[in-house]
Amino acid sequence: MGRRILMILAMLIVALGGAFWWFMLSGKAPKEAPGVFDIAEWRSLVVDDAGAGPDAVRWLEVGHDLAPSWAVQAGRFSDAVPMSYNAIQLSWPDRSIIVGGAVDAETAEQMRQTPKAGFDAATYETLLAAMLDAEQVLITHEHLDHVMAVARHPEPARLAPNLVLNAAQLEALPVFAESGVLAPEIAAVAPVDFSAPTRIAPGVVVAPAPGHTAGSQVVFIQRADGEEYLLIGDIVWNANNIDDLKPRPRLTQIVVFDPNEDRAAIERQIRALHDLKVAEPDLSIVPAHDRAFLQQMVADGLLAAGWE
Ligand SMILES: [Zn+2]
Ligand SMILES: [Zn+2]
Repeated sequence: MGRRILMILAMLIVALGGAFWWFMLSGKAPKEAPGVFDIAEWRSLVVDDAGAGPDAVRWLEVGHDLAPSWAVQAGRFSDAVPMSYNAIQLSWPDRSIIVGGAVDAETAEQMRQTPKAGFDAATYETLLAAMLDAEQVLITHEHLDHVMAVARHPEPARLAPNLVLNAAQLEALPVFAESGVLAPEIAAVAPVDFSAPTRIAPGVVVAPAPGHTAGSQVVFIQRADGEEYLLIGDIVWNANNIDDLKPRPRLTQIVVFDPNEDRAAIERQIRALHDLKVAEPDLSIVPAHDRAFLQQMVADGLLAAGWE
């Protein structure tokens, strides 16, 4: 009798340990991921743009919060991870591009994880206005914390001509509209084909990166002075994932994402980003939510904080 109970207990412990490993710890980028991201190709697309890229890359932080480290990276158990909700503006003397729709007040409240969360209503208003002045408005991907200033913009007729969205992004957009129905002007926007790396402005290339979502893409930027950036959206939430070659844990993927991420694609992208980071130490690889990384970029003069 006692032996049987011990056996059952031992099996239970093994099963629980296995489940903990599977949901919380497992996952690693493959040894190599050739051809996933080709910076030489991106550079070739902007080779004639030397000196004509944006003068400034600006970070407009609309909201912030903290996330548990174990939810951000499989097997990471450290202090809570600062998260930023924001948009990026590329600015030239005579034009601008905005990447990201951030969160509105309602979404920020819904997503709140900790009492330290903050939302800056004035900055959100600034983002809404800046989108109307922008030559192009893009998003890295179709998730609620990256689309609200697009899907819920109060002036859809003025915004619509500026939108540059791919088909998967447009298809997902209605879910994020206030009533589940997009303004007709935004619903009528024609998709742009970003199935191959595409130059969209001097020094700026959009390249497909499906995995986190079907419509995920990265934005490669060569500033006028030659400084280079790669906006990677949510391939990872934190630069540490790239250094450690680790994706989000399965638990996060199952609980947070619907539809779920393509985990294998994410792991290949993490390997590609890791190798890119090693090969190109001067390239800033920017995860959309990594608040500490973004703040460090401001300190280093790589990002301008706020709008001009
Ligand atoms: Zn996302
Ligand atoms: Zn996100």
